[in-house]
Amino acid sequence: MKLFISFDMEGVAGIVDWAQCLPPGQAYEEGRALLLGEVNAAIDGALAAGVTEIVCNDSHGAMNNLNPADLHGRAAYIAGRHKPRYMMEGLDDSFDAVFFVGYHGSISGQLSVLSHTYNPSVISRVLLNGVECGESGINALVALGHGVPVALITGDEVTIAEAGPFFKQVEQVVVKGSITRFAAAQVHPEEAREMIYAGAEAAVQRLGAVPLPDVELPARLDVELQTADMAHVATWVKGVERSGTRSVRIMGEDPLEIYRSFVGLTYITRMSEGR
Ligand SMILES: [Zn+2]
Repeated sequence: MKLFISFDMEGVAGIVDWAQCLPPGQAYEEGRALLLGEVNAAIDGALAAGVTEIVCNDSHGAMNNLNPADLHGRAAYIAGRHKPRYMMEGLDDSFDAVFFVGYHGSISGQLSVLSHTYNPSVISRVLLNGVECGESGINALVALGHGVPVALITGDEVTIAEAGPFFKQVEQVVVKGSITRFAAAQVHPEEAREMIYAGAEAAVQRLGAVPLPDVELPARLDVELQTADMAHVATWVKGVERSGTRSVRIMGEDPLEIYRSFVGLTYITRMSEGR
């Protein structure tokens, strides 16, 4: 049984500040140790439930946050910047389940620690088929495209709520409650790891009851950007159409094509950042 883990960092218990998420520094060293603990807990729980092969895709920042040798279960590690499938790089039809670990709230939703949707300097809101969504909803397109169910999501309570419309029967692990965008009430890291271990184990055990992401096709991804200039530049990407002064739309029958256009948008709009 083959498992794909896409892990982010802002939703990990103990992390409330960008300094913990961006190298270099002592705070980052602490942050990546907390991240490793939660990823390994997910791996250990999945192994206990019978998973035999695991691929971890680092989805945070420069996407190279862990020492590969520290991963449990001889998990393969996809790391580094500029991946065409970004947060979902490495997933294909051969997998049986997807886990989202350390995920965080969207930029446009309820207050959530370190909330953003891909690039906080550019993207101000994303709707999938008219439903407010965060990174989990966007990444659902890739899971759906490959026919693999998302079985586990971990993060703060807003992250879990935002995943609700797209992932029925997903195992949910809430490791913290956001107080503001830069504060949270958190369980102890050891407690978080035990909860994630149990969640991962349960998710694999009842995998047969977990449906594919609930995204009707053809799907429509509406993306609002910070400036009209960003919206204009975004339309240089194949599949991206202008839908308003600061908004664009990506539509299609193939969820993988929609995600590909979205990734292109995130890369090309970086040239429009700044003041
Ligand atoms: Zn991140």
